Amino acid sequence: MLKLVRRIGLRNSFLTNKLRFSSAPLPEPVTNPEIKHTQIFINNEWCNSASNKTFETLNPATGQVIAEVQEGGKADVDRAVQAAHDAFKLGSPWRRMDASDRGVLLNKLADLIERDSCYLASLLTLDNGKTYSQSYAIEVPGCVKTLRYYAGFADKNHGKTIPADGDIFCYTRHEPVGVCGQIIPWNFPLMLLGWKIGPALALGNVVVIKPAEQTPLTTLYVAELCKEAGFPPGVVNVVPGFGPTAGGAIVDNPLVDKVSFTGSTEVGVQIQRNSSSTNLKRVTLELGGKSPNIVLKDVDMKFAVESSHQGLFFNQGQVCCAGSRSFVDASIYDEFVEKSSARAERRIVGDPFNPKTEQGPQIDETQLNKILGFVESGKKEGAKLVAGGKRIGSKGYYMQPTVFADVTDDMQIAKEEIFGPVQQILKFKDLDELIERANATPYGLAASIFTKDIESALYLVQGIRAGTVWVNCSNVLKSQTPFGGYKMSGFGRECGEYALQSYTEVKTVTIRSPMKNS
Ligand code: ADP
Repeated sequence: MLKLVRRIGLRNSFLTNKLRFSSAPLPEPVTNPEIKHTQIFINNEWCNSASNKTFETLNPATGQVIAEVQEGGKADVDRAVQAAHDAFKLGSPWRRMDASDRGVLLNKLADLIERDSCYLASLLTLDNGKTYSQSYAIEVPGCVKTLRYYAGFADKNHGKTIPADGDIFCYTRHEPVGVCGQIIPWNFPLMLLGWKIGPALALGNVVVIKPAEQTPLTTLYVAELCKEAGFPPGVVNVVPGFGPTAGGAIVDNPLVDKVSFTGSTEVGVQIQRNSSSTNLKRVTLELGGKSPNIVLKDVDMKFAVESSHQGLFFNQGQVCCAGSRSFVDASIYDEFVEKSSARAERRIVGDPFNPKTEQGPQIDETQLNKILGFVESGKKEGAKLVAGGKRIGSKGYYMQPTVFADVTDDMQIAKEEIFGPVQQILKFKDLDELIERANATPYGLAASIFTKDIESALYLVQGIRAGTVWVNCSNVLKSQTPFGGYKMSGFGRECGEYALQSYTEVKTVTIRSPMKNS
């Protein structure tokens, strides 16, 4: 008989220690969750697309269709944007609501997501293929905690009074930007939903969300929870659909004041360009990465191997800040390669609902083929394949955990984002050379450094051009800490107090001083 409650397997103990937001036991998943919502959500109502077209969302573990989802296009996006625009009108229930009550609503939404966390985590695993233990212990609480974090800010987005020269009194009002288009990728559908709607709604904005076409189901379910929590109609709207059509329509709509996008650099560049040419929308972009994972010679080898392994293979390697270029000191290189390859071979790949599984399937066949293409290019360019390299079976999109040694900076696998379970291990000899090589990429999202030598760590922290640098850890993403890129990894920050800026317009109010005038 299945136990009602079971704990995350030993294999995932790293995950439980370092990445989990919650120490609660892992409840039994619902392996066949009911699909409750597949339509478009506008004005707190469910509707079909204007075109009546639908698209399939697949289970990556089997390749089978889970559900047909309404395919939003320009007409649907325009209707959602109009609804949001109306909800934002001066005098509307949302604009008249006390700021502290917006915080209450966000806390209610967090409570509802928590109430349904087992269902939502199961739905996420079904739609995305990530392990249920990650869905339950990282994504759901990652979303909940961020909503609660920003709920507290709802009535604290203070302006300033300014001692300006002359006979004037000056203060600033921090006002919401308005209609925010929020385009979400498939790799962290729930956590990133929290990152986007948390600050936007706390500060009084209204949103039109487009989930990724691969993973629409959890966002649609949360839309229903927004209604249950009591958000007024039009404040939260969700239009599932494809990038160039539904996503493009958000970017092209002149009533959208701001776009927040997480996804590939290629699409980010397009969004920035199109946002400028329509109405100079405010844009924040969180894009790709090719993050260095640096291992100095004084490290505890076991810890460094395990941490580097998790830093890359976490979430099937589908992480924008994955440590995908491991730079290892030449004096410990061979041992590091040998142990990393052995660790990859031990990684448990399989059914994402099994609590022992460390790695589920890749998101879809397109991504899997792209990853296999990178493996071929690595072999062709002379890197040494020391683990994996092949697809597993033909049902579902499973990939062997793969490790390349003898990787050099000029190889395609060292330059481009693979977004899969493929670790590249490079060799370095001195810190200055290392900094140059670590920075020799158009990206600048994150970096990890493993060492006990504080001086070298701080030297590297200063030298590396990236939005986040982790020391003796990796992939640590918290509601309270800002996250975003340098260079072509994007701009703007999500999470933490910094994210408030990108959902705020500053209005300067200058009043002629009555006292000095007389
Ligand atoms: P990935 O490579 O992770 O799939 P994408 O950048 O293609 O990243 O997609 C991330 C999100 O951006 C998804 O929701 C996708 O539908 C959307 N998207 C893709 N292309 C466009 C586009 N041209 N305009 C707006 N959104 C897009």
